[in-house]
Amino acid sequence: MITYSGRKCVLSFTKFLSFVIIVMFLVTVLLTFIVLTSENCACVNQQTSFCPNSYPKLKNRKLLSHNLAVLVPFRDRFDELLTFVPYMTNFLNAQGIQYSIFILNQVDNYRFNRASLINVGYLYTMGDYDYIAMHDVDLLPKNTNLSYAYPATQPFHVSAPNLHPRYHYDNFIGGILLVNREQFKLVNGMSNKYWGWGLEDDEFFVRLKDANLNVTRPVNITTGTSNTFRHTHNKTYRKRDTIKCYNQRNVTRRRDRQTGLHDVKYKITNVHKLTLDDYPVTVVNIELKCNRTVTPWCDCSNTTKSSLNKKT
Ligand code: UDP
Ligand code: MN
Repeated sequence: MITYSGRKCVLSFTKFLSFVIIVMFLVTVLLTFIVLTSENCACVNQQTSFCPNSYPKLKNRKLLSHNLAVLVPFRDRFDELLTFVPYMTNFLNAQGIQYSIFILNQVDNYRFNRASLINVGYLYTMGDYDYIAMHDVDLLPKNTNLSYAYPATQPFHVSAPNLHPRYHYDNFIGGILLVNREQFKLVNGMSNKYWGWGLEDDEFFVRLKDANLNVTRPVNITTGTSNTFRHTHNKTYRKRDTIKCYNQRNVTRRRDRQTGLHDVKYKITNVHKLTLDDYPVTVVNIELKCNRTVTPWCDCSNTTKSSLNKKT
């Protein structure tokens, strides 16, 4: 009898143990499911950035206290855009940056005005983003050590002259420049006088310098001018608009103390929230206005051939 009830007891204990193991297994499965679901929710609720599989793991989330508006001055660069959005999304996600990409699409008939578009982008993203990246659409960072972190004390020039594939002069700050909201406001943003290609970034350099802002640049980068960035710029198909008409040459050689963030004239005609290969991007259609008395060179089409590029 004793033996029998002993066996029965051992059998019951084995059953009990199996039961406990099954319950523990089910609890583990349930907990895993809950954790995964809540990660996805965090992803869905995060309006500003896309969350693909490469989204930064929890340890990086604490870094996400700043919010970057990537401002891309744009007109007629569709192929570059198709590459830019997925590439930059993955690049910035890998760094744990919280950001959104804004394509500042110039839709008027004037010459391209990169600086005014950036002014408009700044105003459009005010409130939600505490720093901006002024970012060319055709320049992609290849070295993962190039930081897009918040520039707390000084503007940060990512595409430094010793790294940029094309521009190597000391005061060059074009390509990709990170500036925080206060710094940009302090210098009244960028000049609105630069229609056509060139010099608006050099004028911005002087604005920063006059405000005692010293541009900082990446350090300890082991790559060089040939392998730090990809500059997808075919000079035959993407011609730079270097025409100078009226007194453009003279005026744009000088520091502009009149125009900037406070007086940029424009109308936003449309905002499109798109996904490109599942990566979100906001396209802001911007109609710039030109005061032809102040900057007649916003349109050189009616000037005679002989007056074009004339040195005044
Ligand atoms: N850009 C544009 N359409 C134009 C001219 C310029 O979208 O017709 C934008 C684009 O983001 C480009 C940036 O302005 O990367 C700077 O112009 P560009 O590439 O001609 O200058 P670079 O630095 O190559 O001399
Ligand atoms: Mn270019």
